[in-house]
Amino acid sequence: MTRSTPHMLVVAGSDSSGGAGIVRDIETLAAFGIKASVAITAVTAQTHRDVLHVETIPPDRVVQQMHAALTANPVTAIKIGMLATTATIEAVAKVLANHPDIPVVLDPVLVSTSGGMLLTPGSMAALRDLFGSCTLITPNLPELSRLTAVETAGARENAAGQARRLIAAGVRAVLVKGGHDDGMESVDILIQPDRADQSFAAPRLEASMRGTGCMLASAIAARLAFGDSLATAIATAKAFVHRKLSEG
Ligand code: PLP
Repeated sequence: MTRSTPHMLVVAGSDSSGGAGIVRDIETLAAFGIKASVAITAVTAQTHRDVLHVETIPPDRVVQQMHAALTANPVTAIKIGMLATTATIEAVAKVLANHPDIPVVLDPVLVSTSGGMLLTPGSMAALRDLFGSCTLITPNLPELSRLTAVETAGARENAAGQARRLIAAGVRAVLVKGGHDDGMESVDILIQPDRADQSFAAPRLEASMRGTGCMLASAIAARLAFGDSLATAIATAKAFVHRKLSEG
């Protein structure tokens, strides 16, 4: 029996430098032997140092791309990256509501490494609402702090505590990425309701590379598309990103 190549939908922004965004996503899916369909949320002009311009795609057009992609192909996982605006977040949420059986991995893209805004500042509540439709969200430490800042205003709380707050609010799984931490290892922690936390470690490399968040979330979604469990998908994806980082 021949098995057809799995198909994924990537909902994300483009980055003209190729360092991040949908280019990284498609490269990653190709490495895992997955075909990509796309719904572009924003077209950005970027160098590796600056975000020069962000052109958002109207939410109706994002929805149309998602519908067309889901109609054209048997999509077995969805990866979501840059969403840009509240209206796009809400539009994407409506589409996901019609496809509750497809696993969704969301990388909460807020700002670029260069400091350029990739999500409008008032969109945090809408983004948190969207988390409820996702199988997994993959914030790094600064993103996690900003996502939970309202609830934790005034109090300092560690990352696991912040992630548990999201779980208590209905998020199904949070992978807290430790890349911005220090130490000999980069440790990511998977937090799920009613389960012991699971750690995924890789030796910390001196190297830095743009788009590693895009790569990790895409690689996890790719492995979910093949039917892996969440923990197995994360372990494989982390090893993949570590290998790419070490190759430079
Ligand atoms: N640009 C786009 C379109 C992105 O989706 C992302 C991250 O997901 C970035 C830029 C930020 O990447 P980096 O933080 O590596 O600059």
